[in-house]
Amino acid sequence: MPEAATLFKEWSGYLKAEDLAQVESAYHFSQSAHEGQFRKSGEPYISHPLAVANILAQWHLDSQALTAALLHDVMEDTSVTKTEISRKFGKPVADLVDGVSKLDKIEFETQEKAQAENFRKMLLAMARDVRVILIKLADRLHNMRTLDSVDDVRRNRIARETLEIYAPIANRLGLNSIFQELEDLSFRHLYPDRYRVLAKAVKAARGNRREVVSKVMESIKQRLKDNKVEAQVHGREKHLHSIYRKMREKSLSFSQVLDVFGFRIIVKDVHSCYIALGVLHGLFKPIPGKFKDYVAIPKANGYQSLHTKLFGPFGTPIEVQIRTADMHKIAEAGVASHWLYKSSDTSLSDLQKKTHQWLQSLLEIQSESGDSIEFLEHLKVDLFPDEVYVFTPRGQIMALPRGATAVDYAYAVHTDIGNRCVAVKINQELMPLRAELRNGDRIEIITASHARPNPLWLNFVITGKARSHIRHYLKTMHLQESEQLGERLLHQALDSLNSGLPKIEESRWDKLVRDSNAKSRQEILADIGLGKRLGVVVARQLLSLGEPLPGDNLSPGSVVIRGSEGMAIQFAKCCSPIPGDPIIGIINKGQGMVIHTHDCPGIVKTRMDPERLLDVAWDPESTKLFEVRVKLVVANQRGVLAKVAAEIAEGESNIQNVAVNPEDSGSYTDMYFTIQVSNRLHLARIMRGMRLIPEVVRINRVKG
Ligand code: MN
Repeated sequence: MPEAATLFKEWSGYLKAEDLAQVESAYHFSQSAHEGQFRKSGEPYISHPLAVANILAQWHLDSQALTAALLHDVMEDTSVTKTEISRKFGKPVADLVDGVSKLDKIEFETQEKAQAENFRKMLLAMARDVRVILIKLADRLHNMRTLDSVDDVRRNRIARETLEIYAPIANRLGLNSIFQELEDLSFRHLYPDRYRVLAKAVKAARGNRREVVSKVMESIKQRLKDNKVEAQVHGREKHLHSIYRKMREKSLSFSQVLDVFGFRIIVKDVHSCYIALGVLHGLFKPIPGKFKDYVAIPKANGYQSLHTKLFGPFGTPIEVQIRTADMHKIAEAGVASHWLYKSSDTSLSDLQKKTHQWLQSLLEIQSESGDSIEFLEHLKVDLFPDEVYVFTPRGQIMALPRGATAVDYAYAVHTDIGNRCVAVKINQELMPLRAELRNGDRIEIITASHARPNPLWLNFVITGKARSHIRHYLKTMHLQESEQLGERLLHQALDSLNSGLPKIEESRWDKLVRDSNAKSRQEILADIGLGKRLGVVVARQLLSLGEPLPGDNLSPGSVVIRGSEGMAIQFAKCCSPIPGDPIIGIINKGQGMVIHTHDCPGIVKTRMDPERLLDVAWDPESTKLFEVRVKLVVANQRGVLAKVAAEIAEGESNIQNVAVNPEDSGSYTDMYFTIQVSNRLHLARIMRGMRLIPEVVRINRVKG
């Protein structure tokens, strides 16, 4: 590794003096921050960030990226903070360093193939600024180059991660030489024996073939020259890991993989591409079906070239790519994406498309204007604006649409998890279920067996799956609850006729279902629950007793109301009954049962219609909270609202709504609170507390 001063001199070849000055000061800053730290190899730690910056300088990255590269480990390994970096080197640099540090924190844990792709996407999505990825790749490249001094376990993990995550990212970004070096280094550390054997064999084979290859090359050059085609001819050689991969994936022998000669011909214009092709087909016989014209019809990623395969001397196939210098530049610089050309999946995923679009625009801007500001703006693209990637508790990665909440996640994992979720831990912290998920979050859903979907969730879930499952659940629950209520009401009616449900014979039910044009017994029960049929009428039909008589006792006992029955039982808005209030149930056609307080002024008329009235009672075990309205008249004093609110909180209640009406006189104000209480005692306690506030003149519960 050259001295820092030597490198600075080299970098001055493309950096402006003032930019280089910042880079140098970052070097000194980092050096003193890492003072006393050493690499596993024994070198001072600063040698690593310096080498990383130098890799980026080979790509001619801007001074901000180089500065960040020099500082990339200080936040992790020293006491330097982001604020400090921001103050000294500017916010863009601090953001880059922060971005790299964040990527360092997430580790690739699972060994599953399918997860690797998601992990790569997550890294790219988290990076936002592509320079973060480039710094991370340079960091990884240098670590891979110096992996020998690291212990076996770590070496194995880093090499595997590089092979599965970072090499493919480099490949995708078109950083061809980095990609190949990362793959070969990983290969060497993961399978040292295979690597050694293969490297030796390839070296030998290439030595043996050198003569044949140069003969073929010469004859191609000569023939092109004879036909007045200006061209450069290059041999192409595969890197070791790609030979290894081909042997494994296609079960080919070493000689089968290597026994193809590869050439690339660069010509000056499109016209010459076709002339060169004709010349070659005259020189060697083309293999039928192997010619591809990506010049006339470019690949989806913009890649252009003519591909053909020829029968070479001694029957060795020759693969040739013919393209113009411009096409070549694009192909090598990244847009043509070597990975697509060789990659096993044929269709462009969204990721690939976006990466490609980004790279394409990057190249265009660079070549057309050379405007570095615009260039930098384009580096800051969000590669995946539509998706977020999160971890399950087991380290699996899930992709969800951007804006997805914990409930969306729960339903994406499993319908049952969605239906039973009650809370969520995001990165170990309890968060509301409506919390929006961010890239890299680790999500843990907390479920409870008694829990069920809340209709309010429909206000914030964004995935179709969550939405339809919640709707479906609410619909079937509504029906189930109606059935259960109907069954209870029917029981009661049968009891009053000195019979009981278990005594009813099946044939009677069948007859009733037939006679009443219902689809099933459940439908009849649901109808009773919904008030479309009267329990006592159905009971008499089942017992073949005919129409009810005026003397029949219609309400022999109480129906117990828990308050959590949902839509089959509703609590009247007019009087807002709470446990402890004397209550009465009223059957409304199609709506089921509505619970009112005994003294509700809204039900005076209905009281004349005994068939619709039901005696009901509170379940003493109920733990639900009920809303109730309270009116206060208070003297106009500063802070009185806060005092009342504090008193309500003190009484362990929640305020759902507040309305304030100043009286005309100006000295008093009416306040209406809607609060949640568990029962009358609870309410009484809160009202007692409010009465003690000096400004409170009058207080009463509002009904009707
Ligand atoms: Mn590092």
